[in-house]
Amino acid sequence: MGSVAEAWPISHVCIIGGGPVGLISSILFRRHGFQVTVLEKNPTREEVGAGIQLHPNAVRVLQNVGVFERVRKTAIVLPHLLLKAYKTGETLWDQDFIADTKRYGAPLIALHRTSLQACLYEEALAQGVEIRHGVDVKPADVDLENGVLRLSSGEVLHADLYVGADGGRSAVREALTGRAPQPVPHGRVVMRILIEEKEMLARPNLRHYAEDGNMVVWLGPDCQVVTYLLDGTFNIAFTWPWSKNPTDAFMKPQPVDIDAFRAGLVGWHPDLLEMLSLTSGVFQWMFFEPTIDGDEVPWVDNNSRFVLAGDSAHQFLPYLGQGLAMGYESAALLAALLGKAKTSDQVRDGLAIYERMRKERTGLMIRATLRQGRLTQMADGPLQEARDRELRESPLPTAGCPNMMSDPFFQRWMWGFDAEKAADEAWEKYRRSCQSLPEGFVLVPRLRVMLG
Ligand SMILES: Cc1cc2nc3c(=O)[nH]c(=O)nc-3n(C[C@H](O)[C@H](O)[C@H](O)COP(=O)(O)OP(=O)(O)OC[C@H]3O[C@@H](n4cnc5c(N)ncnc54)[C@H](O)[C@@H]3O)c2cc1C
Repeated sequence: MGSVAEAWPISHVCIIGGGPVGLISSILFRRHGFQVTVLEKNPTREEVGAGIQLHPNAVRVLQNVGVFERVRKTAIVLPHLLLKAYKTGETLWDQDFIADTKRYGAPLIALHRTSLQACLYEEALAQGVEIRHGVDVKPADVDLENGVLRLSSGEVLHADLYVGADGGRSAVREALTGRAPQPVPHGRVVMRILIEEKEMLARPNLRHYAEDGNMVVWLGPDCQVVTYLLDGTFNIAFTWPWSKNPTDAFMKPQPVDIDAFRAGLVGWHPDLLEMLSLTSGVFQWMFFEPTIDGDEVPWVDNNSRFVLAGDSAHQFLPYLGQGLAMGYESAALLAALLGKAKTSDQVRDGLAIYERMRKERTGLMIRATLRQGRLTQMADGPLQEARDRELRESPLPTAGCPNMMSDPFFQRWMWGFDAEKAADEAWEKYRRSCQSLPEGFVLVPRLRVMLG
């Protein structure tokens, strides 16, 4: 761990939100020598949630902070991705994740959100992070002018930097942008279904789905089903069409009559129907359109005291399994850049570099995610038949592959990202451009041009 010299402009970082991005941010900032406090609105550690996949770019962040081995103990390493036709069960595409693991030096894993959260929580505490529960920050608490948080309890919290890692309905984002989020339905819901592994193992035709440990994506008409094994549990995420009308939007999970739903799946493969018969008490969540922020939506305030990271800045649909990975990348880049800043000007410029780099990459990733969702959720017909043919008959994945995770160019861009390296390169570029500036030159506007 580095040490913060007295002259450094930031010593205390306050992170609002103790979710996965808030906790990894806290560990990353501690590693750079900052004092860190996390404010979490839940009164206790959250013990809910289904499964999550972490891809090599996310795992790399965990490796770099030294928590991967602990996370790995509760995770399944995914060996293959299979794309299957929803009626016949034919495997249209088989991606070898083990070969990808070798290429990127980090595996693809699946685990319970609660296990991931527990590992990060313990590491944060071990690193000396202060975690305060039951602190629900409201937009009105964010005092941008004075750079403090004025809680409704009357307490005033002072820090040198505040990271808004408070998720998709972020209070910090609302304060920065001056408007409450107005979610627009994406036209899909997701049912999260958990089946005990032993139930799968007891059924001869379902047994291999649990034993193989593969991630399977069933390509359905206007929908998709993702299945994989977690520690002792088989996880199913069923994405299904829903109204796009804003008046039909729901924010809280809704119960689903799974028997009635299953009865409506005429012509579907019997294995899937059997899996759905093994569960009850199913809930569904609504998906909302992701937004791609331009310069008009600030992620940093004018005084360079508040900054957004994770879902508060960039929310994703899960079609490429990249939501949390992007949050981890953002957290790692932010901490690495600010770890280099030694003056207030450098903090301001470091935050501007961060905002610029992350808006660019996450904007492209959001577009890619939407494209992948269209590719895996095609209505039955000539386009779907052409997609299936291309998957079935392509000898080797190449650019434009309908499974974007196999597209070698896109894959390298997605999974090869290393935040620490990116921060080093950006800082070096910045440092060199500073040397060429006349004294008194205002750097931030120029940075926008230079990195754009
Ligand atoms: C169905 C689905 C499946 C997904 N699957 C994957 C996947 O497989 N892989 C992947 O990489 N990503 C996946 N994602 C995306 C991933 O879940 C999110 O990107 C990730 O949870 C974002 O983490 P976060 O910490 O930014 O926000 P959150 O997880 O929302 O955490 C925010 C935290 O802040 C706290 N908080 C909120 N408001 C306040 C406040 N006002 N004051 C104090 N605390 C507050 C909350 O209680 C919470 O603890 C999926 C998303 C969905 C919807």
